Amino acid sequence: MLYDIAIIGAGPAGCTLARLLDRKYKVLLIDKRDITSENCNSKCCGGLLAPDAQEMLGRMGLVIPSSVLVDPQLFLVRTIDFDNRIERYYQRFYFNMDRLVFEQWLLSQVPANTDLALGCTFKNCEYIGEGVRFSFTYKGKSYRENARIIIGADGGHSLVRKSVFPDKKMPETYVAVQEWFETENSMPWYGAIFDSTITDFYSWTITKGKVLIIGSALKKNNLALDRFKMLKMKLRDNGLVYGKKILREGAFILRPNSISSIITGNDYCALVGEAAGFVSPSSAEGISYALKSAYHLASALNEGLDNFQSRYSKSVSKLKLSLFGKNLKCPGMYNRFLRGMVMRSGLMATDILF
Ligand SMILES: Cc1cc2nc3c(=O)[nH]c(=O)nc-3n(C[C@H](O)[C@H](O)[C@H](O)COP(=O)(O)OP(=O)(O)OC[C@H]3O[C@@H](n4cnc5c(N)ncnc54)[C@H](O)[C@@H]3O)c2cc1C
Repeated sequence: MLYDIAIIGAGPAGCTLARLLDRKYKVLLIDKRDITSENCNSKCCGGLLAPDAQEMLGRMGLVIPSSVLVDPQLFLVRTIDFDNRIERYYQRFYFNMDRLVFEQWLLSQVPANTDLALGCTFKNCEYIGEGVRFSFTYKGKSYRENARIIIGADGGHSLVRKSVFPDKKMPETYVAVQEWFETENSMPWYGAIFDSTITDFYSWTITKGKVLIIGSALKKNNLALDRFKMLKMKLRDNGLVYGKKILREGAFILRPNSISSIITGNDYCALVGEAAGFVSPSSAEGISYALKSAYHLASALNEGLDNFQSRYSKSVSKLKLSLFGKNLKCPGMYNRFLRGMVMRSGLMATDILF
């Protein structure tokens, strides 16, 4: 075997895993994007670093450089409930980040003995007895490589998960659409919009410098873009001011509404981060889960490659429990009547003075 461990995906999960793996291993880290390039597409993401993710970075001794942050910093969530025609503000502490700069910084923490293969797209893999043979393309040409263990850190649309576990249930999958608009207005909040005619998940607005992002996690069907248009019209009617469109981007996002859809892998393949199904079903926050699951996987692998899977699946039981808790929270957020009651009560809401 050329490699002990091949990691597919250099997002928060893949980079964290590569950073924490014992130097005794020969490690390959592949990503279809060349994340180091200035022209690289940023992963479609709100780029908000939630307190759980901040805490995990701190626990791992990592200091976020200020170059990762963008204006404005956000301390409030403006919750707009179009179903019940009510708005409230809630205090929350996020770091507002440039997602690509965050990923570039995470990648810069990967040790030099890791082989990096950027611009390489994983295609498929097969079990060959003592390990895995996998194929990928680079600049249109196909290549093959072997590793004892393959790691799917390739996000919500994981091809590794689909190749190795084609029959296993996928968490419910939404299509997230984001559009970027020019704006002159900086807002000290992030908008969370609930409207059951648009989606049974939620939509959001975030300002980053001179850009306003409008996004929504939509049911995967041919009405998704019409619903997104309707969302923009409703927000304009509600007073949101924005200028010329700069770009539209999209990504799949998982919503694991049952713990059984989370898969950590088998003896020759591990799934980590969103590929495993670790992402909040209530807020779609996934960076903290990517960091935490990568930490647990690295700890399991660093004890040896034999039997690592049983150690890994045991150590993520707390993460699964946390997702179970987030699912319990969902009715209070997504049931129109319960949400209306909670918001009308003003419970935990912040009085606005402007
Ligand atoms: C619209 C949107 C907004 C979001 N906003 C937030 C937010 O504000 N805060 C938050 O905490 N979470 C947010 N999330 C969730 C968060 O982005 C993910 O849960 C998190 O990035 C998961 O990290 P990961 O490393 O598991 O996967 P990813 O970040 O998805 O990384 C996967 C990597 O694998 C690579 N890859 C994929 N397929 C292949 C392949 N075939 N071959 C090679 N490489 C491949 C990709 O290029 C990527 O770099 C959002 C998600 C979406 C879709």
